[in-house]
Amino acid sequence: MRDLTVRYDAATAVDGVSLDVGPGELVALIGPNGAGKSTLVNALCGLLRPASGTIAVRGDLALVPEGRHLFPSLTVDDNLRLGAWRRKDRDTAHIYALLPELVVLRDRPAGRLSGGEQQMVALGRALMARPDLLVIDEMSLGLAPKIVDGLAAHLRERNAADGLAVLLIEQNARLALQLCARAYVLEAGRVVAAGPSEQLRNDASVAAAYLGLEA
Ligand code: ATP
Repeated sequence: MRDLTVRYDAATAVDGVSLDVGPGELVALIGPNGAGKSTLVNALCGLLRPASGTIAVRGDLALVPEGRHLFPSLTVDDNLRLGAWRRKDRDTAHIYALLPELVVLRDRPAGRLSGGEQQMVALGRALMARPDLLVIDEMSLGLAPKIVDGLAAHLRERNAADGLAVLLIEQNARLALQLCARAYVLEAGRVVAAGPSEQLRNDASVAAAYLGLEA
């Protein structure tokens, strides 16, 4: 993404952002409410037209949207299969191997799952597309730490096994900086800090704003 600017009428939500995710990289995008994270993701996925700047995606991208957006009356298995609507191969076995918690839920309507279970289905559905890049908008929102740890472990696994690249949008900076080797900090539509997560964790202003540590 180069010099990306996205506006809602006169309001600029993303203001000249440049961002890269390399093949097989885990990259986080953190920032407070209203920073422009979802706007950036929606532009990246082609749901919003940027006012200026360029976006180039090499390979296939799949999105795990904020709020999950499952089909509540369809079963877990049917929701997963919808993730592969563009592919001939709609076999869900590899998702159950990766997320075994879903095996016993496979015939249950998605609307009758807990929040964490729904988030797992949303992740599985995105992985059904066998993407090169997975974009996850707010993975941890409303989920118990144990579930979040499980999802993070699954992502690490897929990253190590298949070189899946991930752009993780997170309010939980601690989790994001732990899971991803590199991160961008977005504030009021601009990148205010970027670099290796280790370096950002040790940056006093980032730590004060996002990790609850004294500056
Ligand atoms: P959060 O963490 O709260 O989800 P965010 O970082 O994802 O926030 P965005 O949802 O991208 O932030 O919003 C960025 C800015 O754009 C905010 O000031 C928001 O009020 C504004 N905004 C978002 N959607 C619209 C819209 N459809 N029309 C007008 N303004 C919008």
